[in-house]
Amino acid sequence: MRFSQDFINRVAESNNLVDIIAEYTQLRGRGDRFMGLCPFPDHHEKTPSFSVSHSKQVYYCFGCRRSGNIFQFLEAMKGLNFIEAVEYLADRAGIPIERDVKDKTASPKKKYYDLNKEVADFFHLQLILSPEDSTVRKYCRKRGLLKKTVKDFMLGYADESWDSLTSFLKKEKQSVKDASSLGLIKKRASGGYYDTFRNRLMFPIISLQGRVVGFGGRALDIEDVKYINSSESEIFNKSEVLYGLHKTAKYIKSEDEVLLVEGYMDVLSLYQAGVKNVVAPLGTAFTSEHARSLKKLTRNVFVLFDGDEAGQMAAERALPILLQEGLLPRGVVLPENMDPDEYVKLKGVESLKEVVRAAPELFSLVVQRLKSKYSNSPSSKIVFMEKVSDLLLSVADKGLFDLYVDEISELLSVPSDWVLSNLKGSTLKKESRKSLDLEEGNKKLSLRQESNMKGEEDIIEVENPPRAELYLLNLLLMEEGFWNRFFASALLNDISHEGIRKIIQLAQESRQTTSDFDKLTSLLVEKVSPSRYITLFMAPPFSEMSREELERMYVDCSRQIRSRALKAQIQKLKADMALASPEEQVKKLEQIMNIQRERQHLEQEKSKMI
Ligand SMILES: [Zn+2]
Repeated sequence: MRFSQDFINRVAESNNLVDIIAEYTQLRGRGDRFMGLCPFPDHHEKTPSFSVSHSKQVYYCFGCRRSGNIFQFLEAMKGLNFIEAVEYLADRAGIPIERDVKDKTASPKKKYYDLNKEVADFFHLQLILSPEDSTVRKYCRKRGLLKKTVKDFMLGYADESWDSLTSFLKKEKQSVKDASSLGLIKKRASGGYYDTFRNRLMFPIISLQGRVVGFGGRALDIEDVKYINSSESEIFNKSEVLYGLHKTAKYIKSEDEVLLVEGYMDVLSLYQAGVKNVVAPLGTAFTSEHARSLKKLTRNVFVLFDGDEAGQMAAERALPILLQEGLLPRGVVLPENMDPDEYVKLKGVESLKEVVRAAPELFSLVVQRLKSKYSNSPSSKIVFMEKVSDLLLSVADKGLFDLYVDEISELLSVPSDWVLSNLKGSTLKKESRKSLDLEEGNKKLSLRQESNMKGEEDIIEVENPPRAELYLLNLLLMEEGFWNRFFASALLNDISHEGIRKIIQLAQESRQTTSDFDKLTSLLVEKVSPSRYITLFMAPPFSEMSREELERMYVDCSRQIRSRALKAQIQKLKADMALASPEEQVKKLEQIMNIQRERQHLEQEKSKMI
């Protein structure tokens, strides 16, 4: 069951696309049209090519060619599906969702997100309300956590008792079964439940979409396991989420660099010291999924793991994963085995920035460390080559690969060709990697299709439309005056492209139920693929044309379309003539001459204009 169209319309009308987009990028507007830098994280630009129409409630970026209405923006930007986007906007506008509708249509994951959010609020309040001299407050002070950081990252406190959270959930009539699925509480052998997190500083783990997907807990008692996470669940996959990203993504993007650190505390202390382009994996290994989500924001990754042996090993393991995804990793090594948190406190943030700026390639660090274990004998070089082969073969960037080969050849004092010919099983490996990538791609595609809750069947696919018809379509949607003129003429019959004709017909149907002309575009934009074909009018050349120029464009397009249609008619008549009787042939010839006269007339009009 879906939401009724009435409900969807009401939700759309109660929100303003301009306000929503302004949360992601600065928009400057005059009149109806607002421009700004493209808010999509994978489109970096210095001059604005992103525009939003206030009256039509659609957006279009002529740089990355994304376009859509308010729902499509949330789907693309926050990764919501259609139902979730409707719910989000209803919430935002304070429109209640009827209970029975909600239960049937809400995504099954939403109840988990809501529950996690409630639990995060509970832990947060526990921390805020705890006495000044409590262990948790003392710990926060010792680590130098500022009030603002605690609030920004919603840090919390799970107290020492075995059932604080369990009782809270029962009191709030929350499902203990769901809480148990999320790993927040655990079943007792004797029946009932107990709290998973006790006497811990709590770190809610928040996805890029701003949802609480899980928790990390830091022990306050030295006897306990230092860090534990809530278990993986339907909404929590540790190998996908990066800690801090919901707050730091915009800084990573704007600075075009990211600092990859090891722990929650490193993220927090760097963030509050003013180094805000920072993230950490969740105390687990760094994965390809992590690399891919960073790649959407920047290619420049500074790996800043702890100086101890474990930290360096972790950095080494992250290297091939970063290289495989085409990222450009550098390695930051802090002196005296310090971790970033300690370093910033001791030496200050400027000193850290200097170390980061001077950081060498992570590849060089790893390779040199490895080389130090081998002598310069020919047989050692062979063994060493075997060790670095995999690493070299993981480099996805061709230019980088060549440079690294040179580096190895220098390090071993051998020619580059020798390095290349001693890459073990090179061709084989590269091939197998390629097919793996392909599989991954297909998997993603099918996932996307599943999550698309809007019927695919009513999407109009448009391929290679003739320019005149495409431009005319955009003029029709741009101004009601053009629309009225078009339908007063018989030009619709002359539209040759099936996709364009279908769009115009659908627009005509929608127009019968929509009194507001401006709503047409946002209604159509989700039914056309690629959607940009009906938002071209928001960008140059349209947006820079005067009234007269637009008028001329309309006339030119109409004439071209008519002329092409006449030409097609002539061709058809000529083909028919071959099979016709002599009398019919005469009739057809007459028709052809009439049509040719009209075409000539059109041509004359055109030459007058020029
Ligand atoms: Zn863009």
